[in-house]
Amino acid sequence: MINFQYLRTTSAKSALALLLKDKNSKFIAGGTNLIDLMKRGVTSPEKLIDINHVPLKQIELVGNKIIIGALASNTAVAENSLIKEKLPLLAMALNAGASAQLRNVATVGGNMMQRTRCGYFYDTEMPCNKRVPGSGCAAVGGFNRMHAIFGTSDKCIAVHPSDMCVALVALDAVVVVANQKGERKILFKDFHRLAGDTPQLDNNLKTDEMIIRLEIPANNLGKNSNYLKVRDRASYAFALISVAVGMEISNGKISDVRLAMGGVAHKPWRLTEAEDFLKGKDASIENFEQASKLAMKGAKGFGENDFKLQMAPNTIIEALTVAKSKA
Ligand code: SF4
Repeated sequence: MINFQYLRTTSAKSALALLLKDKNSKFIAGGTNLIDLMKRGVTSPEKLIDINHVPLKQIELVGNKIIIGALASNTAVAENSLIKEKLPLLAMALNAGASAQLRNVATVGGNMMQRTRCGYFYDTEMPCNKRVPGSGCAAVGGFNRMHAIFGTSDKCIAVHPSDMCVALVALDAVVVVANQKGERKILFKDFHRLAGDTPQLDNNLKTDEMIIRLEIPANNLGKNSNYLKVRDRASYAFALISVAVGMEISNGKISDVRLAMGGVAHKPWRLTEAEDFLKGKDASIENFEQASKLAMKGAKGFGENDFKLQMAPNTIIEALTVAKSKA
């Protein structure tokens, strides 16, 4: 690990001022991914700006929006009574991630900013366009069992590792970010990026900005919601496939539905075509199967991860079936 300077700040304003002073500085909160990246030599910031004492931990209902501060811990959000009542899908997704110890210190903002867990990204001996643009992608033709089946490029086939973000994209969350001049809002679906020709960029946060809070519209999708995560072991493992479902069902018909997948793309993957098909239809297994087929349009395997082409639609059908069965 390289030497670095450690700074602590207590306001967003001073945090942004410190960030502007030195391009090679990074914010640190829980540090559950950043410290690993530094230990492995993947990133080498000269300054770490500790933002843990910036007052951005609120979880509250304001009008018809649920507001979650960027520094609320994953546990604080998952265990919050307002979240459990209004956004159970988010609580389920958070509890499916990492371990209890990690969730206690990992923050909402940090969860959004975590890097892919592609093994080649962490192995500085191997080519990786995300770590060293232009060096190649060892995963194409290499070990790619965990990798993407949607929205890939020949530059990178990594997946975004978060569970929380899969729920947030399904819930139409909005990300509020700030720089020294003020705030701007980014739809959650537009926060993370596909790899394209710039796999080194995971998201659209600018280098002079920080995440301030999430705004999530209240909805009626809570009762029939479900987060189903398929993984190699029952806890502390990243998703092979995950599916977030929120449905509003009246008289057996689906009046509203949200669907998103994790473990399949460089960003949380919203399934809008499948949603459009399901709206207004019976909550039946036949319609769930048809929706899963629509969701798989354009999917492509890379060898070791071909099994996801079958596992993904099966997981969608099961997630919808379980969500429907909730009384
Ligand atoms: Fe790097 Fe992406 Fe290729 Fe993994 S998939 S080796 S992160 S470029």
